[in-house]
Amino acid sequence: LQEVLIRAVELTSPRLDEKNMQFNVDIARDVTVAGDFNRLIQIFTNLITNAITYSPENTTITLRIKKNDEYGIVEVEDEGMGIDKSEIARVFERFYRVDKARSRNSGGTGLGLAIVKHIIEAHYGKIQVNSTVGKGTCMIVYIPLRKKRN
Ligand code: ATP
Ligand code: MG
Repeated sequence: LQEVLIRAVELTSPRLDEKNMQFNVDIARDVTVAGDFNRLIQIFTNLITNAITYSPENTTITLRIKKNDEYGIVEVEDEGMGIDKSEIARVFERFYRVDKARSRNSGGTGLGLAIVKHIIEAHYGKIQVNSTVGKGTCMIVYIPLRKKRN
């Protein structure tokens, strides 16, 4: 997962710089999951792009990799506008965008998270959202660990 996240960081850092934002990383090594490298990169470029888009300038995005017995776990946490509780389930629907008027000028299509959820489910993983309006959002992705042969 380390390599995946490094690549996603490379791909998103131009936009991060434009908004004078920073990454803060806390990455456990040797967390190896069962998955397709490019599809996994797609998950985290999407989540990081959202974290950048829906945050004000000069804020920090924290990236964490950890694991439990079953899953490699990646957290993407921002200090942005947050998502209201009533909207959290809906943001994974195709074309759904919170507050269309506000987000129209940010130019997205509302497909990003639908694709993210689809890729995660194709890997037998899951995603959780913790969010507080006005404080920020933490997206937590679980991807099954690669089984060791013994
Ligand atoms: P795109 O298809 O370009 O990704 P999008 O970013 O609008 O467009 P999604 O990534 O699917 O679409 O996100 C859906 C909606 O969820 C967004 O329009 C936004 O309102 C909300 N959202 C997603 N991530 C965050 C976040 N980190 N903080 C606040 N709101 C978010
Ligand atoms: Mg998006």
